[in-house]
Amino acid sequence: MKAARIHQFGGPEVLSYEDISDPQPRKDQVLIRVKACSLNHLDLWVRKGLPGVKLPHILGSDIAGEVVEVGEYITGFKSGQRVLVAPMHFCGHCTKCLAGLQNQCREFTVLGNAVDGGDCELFAAPVANVIPIPDALDFNQAASVPLVFVTAWHMLVGLAGVRPGQTVLVLGGSSGVGIAAIQIAKLFHCRVITTAGNEVKLEKARALGADFGIDHYKQKISEEVRKITSKEGVDIVVEHVGAATWDESMRCLKTAGSLVTCGATTGPNVSIDLRHLFARQLRLLGSYMGTMAELHEVLGHLFAGRLRPVVDRTFPLSEIRAAHEYLEKSAMFGKVIVNP
Ligand SMILES: [Zn+2]
Repeated sequence: MKAARIHQFGGPEVLSYEDISDPQPRKDQVLIRVKACSLNHLDLWVRKGLPGVKLPHILGSDIAGEVVEVGEYITGFKSGQRVLVAPMHFCGHCTKCLAGLQNQCREFTVLGNAVDGGDCELFAAPVANVIPIPDALDFNQAASVPLVFVTAWHMLVGLAGVRPGQTVLVLGGSSGVGIAAIQIAKLFHCRVITTAGNEVKLEKARALGADFGIDHYKQKISEEVRKITSKEGVDIVVEHVGAATWDESMRCLKTAGSLVTCGATTGPNVSIDLRHLFARQLRLLGSYMGTMAELHEVLGHLFAGRLRPVVDRTFPLSEIRAAHEYLEKSAMFGKVIVNP
């Protein structure tokens, strides 16, 4: 089969579109013909070099496609069925996995990170990861969903415990996680403030339901939030930007507010004034992906049309380098997809 692999870490030039042998599915696996795989910022980190990545390596976390072959031990799936793949790897038999806390499993990793991903034509998936998709969702839309929507759901619902009527600040409203978080917060009837780098992106974020938009290049986030909330601050901040916005994010919280973070796109090192943390009774929550139950829950809303996928652009898998370059420019609103 064709696959996009890296044999060394580095820039987009290390991505190689090449022939490799087909995967040999186990009897408890489903073989899937990959029709679409979406890119995430994780792909860029893995390509540049992360510990635990064994070379050569296939990138790509979010797979949608068609079932080609069903392992002997599996019932309930048939050849030709349209599915997506839960973008996570877990052991399935430790106490955390059996408690439904797959993202706390010691073997937990994201597909395409410490295990091979979906930037290829065929993928062998454990049956627990294979989820049928409705006809109304095309493969590009389906591939755009899993990682960012389960991440945003875990942050807002699982960790921050979002409640109707709260005010939520979503950093980076044009990113995949931002687009998911805006919609999930609106599903809970929250007031949503978001940030983006230009007016075109802010307009698209408003179209998704954001009530207020802040241009983070032209406006000071905490000042605008103070105006919007009559100096009170927000209940929840959804962070994934990191160093560039951390201080502003902390300043935007109301007393006993929660800052939940799942990323550090602009850098991992920040400072915290402990006096603010304890005196204002703030909650800092670290989030990594989510659980299988949360993925099924958020997909239920997507399949019912209460949340919607946003695809920015597609590339043939053979143009994987161009797709990475496009993602790195941050010009998109929504997900970038490759098609094998
Ligand atoms: Zn486990």
